[in-house]
Amino acid sequence: RDGKHSWAGHKMQRFVSFIEDIPFLSLCCHTQLTFLLCVAAVAWEAGKPLVLEEVEVAPPQAMEVRLKILYASLCHTDVYFWEAKGQKPIFPRILGHEAAGIVESVGEGVTELAPGDHVLPVFTGECKECAHCLSEESNMCDLLRINTDRGVMLSDGQSRFSIKGKPINHFLGTSTFSEYTVVHSGCVAKINPLAPLDKVCVLSCGFSTGFGATVNVAKPTKGSTVAVFGLGAVGLAAAEGARVSGASRIIGVDVNPKRFEEAKKFGVNEFVNPKDYDRPVQEVIAEMTGGGADRSVECTGNIDAMISAFECVHDGWGVAVLVGVPHKDAVLKTHPVNFLNERTLKGTFFGNYKPRSDLPSVVERYMNKEIELEKFITHEVTFSEINKAFDYMLQGASLRCIIRMDG
Ligand code: NAD
Ligand code: ZN
Repeated sequence: RDGKHSWAGHKMQRFVSFIEDIPFLSLCCHTQLTFLLCVAAVAWEAGKPLVLEEVEVAPPQAMEVRLKILYASLCHTDVYFWEAKGQKPIFPRILGHEAAGIVESVGEGVTELAPGDHVLPVFTGECKECAHCLSEESNMCDLLRINTDRGVMLSDGQSRFSIKGKPINHFLGTSTFSEYTVVHSGCVAKINPLAPLDKVCVLSCGFSTGFGATVNVAKPTKGSTVAVFGLGAVGLAAAEGARVSGASRIIGVDVNPKRFEEAKKFGVNEFVNPKDYDRPVQEVIAEMTGGGADRSVECTGNIDAMISAFECVHDGWGVAVLVGVPHKDAVLKTHPVNFLNERTLKGTFFGNYKPRSDLPSVVERYMNKEIELEKFITHEVTFSEINKAFDYMLQGASLRCIIRMDG
């Protein structure tokens, strides 16, 4: 790769020496003028293996930062948008949103981050100024909330990635399957520099999403029964949230029975495979629990599982929380009497955590050994093997597969 880097270095040097002839510019616009060439995994077409390409990464503009990504991990949301079966196809695109890295340079106006800071990029941001950011109840920032259809930066509607002048789309404002990426500074949580980035990268999406869905949204009380639909990393993090909340029964529901053994490590103590029954799984759960679970958390993305998760909670007090990313045309159908009978249905992005304000303290909970992340990490690959991470997830073999960007 070094050989290939050199022509870019040459080009850059020419560019920089041109700029240095203008002393004012070289002082004021230093970070605005450095283009970088690096390797990124590009999704050229739906469902086709990612291709490692040399990509030019533009400098961060106002309120943006450029990050050196050290570790990324694969979440099912990346797979949905890569398959583009139930999502809008946007290609070529650099996927990836669960990652950890270091700030390389900052754009104009960025005061809370500096080169060298250890950070987690997050797919949904926090401007700290809008009504949502000011509300204690919401993490749906008006400016920086998740947008799955945008492939460009907010400030100028342009991509910061290009290959020989051809722009490559961003994904979720993060695009972490690249050695370097540019993100809005409001989508970056600055964390304890002592935290091991190869572990805490799973906090940048999967773990925080599932754990927060339970502790911040479902809020089970001590001794309650919680049903978790989908025992991937997000669902098992939801189970972990139920365990630390003192739930006494945690019922794991999954169509892949291979997940059950592993789930025992996460405190899941009863198991249901919907395929084993010829009646709706909500009826099975109602029977097991004498009327329904107190709380349920859906982490599958499957519409039938979403309906079951809602209908399986107890009347009078049951709360169901949807986390899975649905097919773009999905419609949730349930009889209104299920609501009249005093069941509540909620949904959440990123477990209702405000990424900049809350994520550093979740990292501290890991550092204080209150939460364990190692058991979520089942596989590790080098960057050049990134397609293997997709295979593991498609086979249902992995929870989280860490991608080492230096390999
Ligand atoms: P995963 O593929 O590792 O796990 C999903 C699990 O669901 C699998 O074990 C699968 O067998 C199971 N499953 C699928 N259909 C099912 C059904 N009908 N009934 C029961 N189980 C079923 O995925 P993950 O990375 O853990 O992500 C889980 C979901 O959460 C995905 O939909 C993902 O897009 C979504 N997600 C949402 C957010 C958010 O902020 N809301 C963030 C991250 C991920
Ligand atoms: Zn994710």
